[in-house]
Amino acid sequence: MTHPPRSPEQGSSGDRAGNAPAHLRIHGLVVAYGSRTVLDIPALSLGTGITALTGANGSGKTTLLKTLALLIRPTTGTVELEQDGGAPGPRTALRRHRAAVGFLPQAPEFPGHFTVRDAVTYSAWLRGIPRARRAEAVHRVVEDLNLTAAATTPLRALSGGNRQRAHIAQALVHDPSVVLLDEPTTGIDIEHRIALREHLARAGQTRCIVMSTHHTEDVELLADRVVSLRDGQVVFDGTPEQLMARASNGTPAARSIERALHDLGGANT
Ligand code: ADP
Repeated sequence: MTHPPRSPEQGSSGDRAGNAPAHLRIHGLVVAYGSRTVLDIPALSLGTGITALTGANGSGKTTLLKTLALLIRPTTGTVELEQDGGAPGPRTALRRHRAAVGFLPQAPEFPGHFTVRDAVTYSAWLRGIPRARRAEAVHRVVEDLNLTAAATTPLRALSGGNRQRAHIAQALVHDPSVVLLDEPTTGIDIEHRIALREHLARAGQTRCIVMSTHHTEDVELLADRVVSLRDGQVVFDGTPEQLMARASNGTPAARSIERALHDLGGANT
């Protein structure tokens, strides 16, 4: 990567997304495969803080996250990014959106012979971080995710949890304002899950984070807001406390959340 070609997200001024707070706004969103509607969300606004996206398998979580990342084109409706600080600059809406958003797919695929540092550096280049700032950005996110000791290890030699964190570092390296994570805590051992939650909690203070999860602890310990899907529709949108109140009768929080999600049809059973 001595003389990389111009990166896909690099604007004419070499700028990058900036990390000004951002909102995603959905209007009249329908995603259909053939005649089958898998997502139908008339209106939803996602802003700063951590939103946990819950729902049974097949309820539409991945489809929604990919639609928010503009990886799936809505059948009808729109997904708009609104970023504080106004001036759009020379980039198109699509480029601005991609530069402001970090996305972690559910099963990321990346060549296993890349080391952690090379993989994150590649993502930094892809996201248009200018060469002069790239090493520093990579260093920062690798350190933030407690991956410094593994920085020169090939991805294929990492434990599942470390590899997942390396992929998360790839999604965060350009300091995106909006972070979309598809089941980031799945497959990570408890110790790393705690560290990852701490990192996401810090990041969520200034960013819009939307993460799908089956872990009731993510909802209880991390989320500011819960959006539950059933058959592609939003069946709950509120705080974890409001979710708990639906089922609470003195039972511990995690069990209340589990029961409320189950009642919404969102249990992974
Ligand atoms: P979740 O992430 O909640 O498990 P998904 O968003 O993966 O749900 O899937 C929602 C629905 O859309 C499921 O019924 C799934 O079978 C369907 N689906 C997802 N991708 C496709 C596709 N490429 N073609 C047809 N149906 C799809």
